[in-house]
Amino acid sequence: MSGGDKIDFEIRPNPAPVSATDRAALLANPGFGRVFTDHMVTIRYADGKGWYDARVEARAPIPMDPASAVLHYAQEIFEGMKAYRAADGGVTMFRPYANAARFNTSAARMAMPALPEQTFVDSLHRLIEIDREWIPDGDDGGSLYLRPFMFASEVFLGVRPANEYLYSVIASPVGAYFSGGVKPVTVWVSPDYTRAAPGGTGAAKCGGNYAASLAAQAEALEHGCDQVVFLDAVERRFVDELGGMNVFFVYDDGSIATPPLTGTILPGITRESVLTLAAAAGHRVEERPVTFDEWRADAASGRLREVFACGTAAVITPIGQVRFPDGEFAVAGGEPGSVTMALRQQLVDLQRGKAEDPHDWVHRV
Ligand code: PMP
Repeated sequence: MSGGDKIDFEIRPNPAPVSATDRAALLANPGFGRVFTDHMVTIRYADGKGWYDARVEARAPIPMDPASAVLHYAQEIFEGMKAYRAADGGVTMFRPYANAARFNTSAARMAMPALPEQTFVDSLHRLIEIDREWIPDGDDGGSLYLRPFMFASEVFLGVRPANEYLYSVIASPVGAYFSGGVKPVTVWVSPDYTRAAPGGTGAAKCGGNYAASLAAQAEALEHGCDQVVFLDAVERRFVDELGGMNVFFVYDDGSIATPPLTGTILPGITRESVLTLAAAAGHRVEERPVTFDEWRADAASGRLREVFACGTAAVITPIGQVRFPDGEFAVAGGEPGSVTMALRQQLVDLQRGKAEDPHDWVHRV
């Protein structure tokens, strides 16, 4: 099928699922990205045929020919989102159609076929339905991390867009990102590495962007930092984003700023949600370029009150300390700020179906 048609999934339940006892043991301390549910979704694509062979089946290795195009030219994209166990025992997702839309924007940039948004969302539903027991209890901050992805499966070494693809979704129960309270992180401003140049793939969620960020992230860890901050690739002055999160600045007049979407940063769904929530809470919100020098000067003068990073994994993370080759500085004495924490609470409550949802962001499964 192609276009907006509804696709039917063939459901083949795993004949040997993890036992309830073993599952409970795994859910007690899942960590991040190491524990997986019993099933996965796969849908195939071929030029001329469109999307076909949609299945929910036992999670298993995917056999690959060594000449599969993705292994050579990295034609691959992915998404990251979560399913939450709501207070009423139901299951929620947060803005899944936004992830579906971003998936297709990424696909277009990587010369890959679009997946109908409804098929993307249906694929998440089917997987959550069959692996529902794997969603951690909401009370301790756990969730089921969903990882839709697509890669070029054609067996061909020519450099051109492949004509066969595999779309898949796997799911991984994850624990609370911050156990024992939200702690501000220390970030490393990379002097050498940049993430994305104008005209490049920075706004796409493609695997290659993350491969390119690993050396910078390793450098951050070597300097005792949790995350890397990338500056723009042209002037090396403007703050772009973190390795896996967008960044926000909160000022003493209550205004909030975040770098604009100029094509070099990922359009985070948390970022967009924060812009909306902050404006609704009466903050003046600006999408504008922020230089690293400005960040440092405003932290020193006290004009800059809070800085936080945001993304699906950690929701909202206060940034307490900023390190760079020539020194370091703190923001607000390194403590989580009140605006940061209020926005965080609002988002967490929304995602778990505990708050009014005026924007219709919460999607019940
Ligand atoms: N920037 C990058 C580079 C990311 O990988 C992510 C995580 N997807 C984000 C920002 C935040 O995006 P979102 O809020 O949609 O998770």
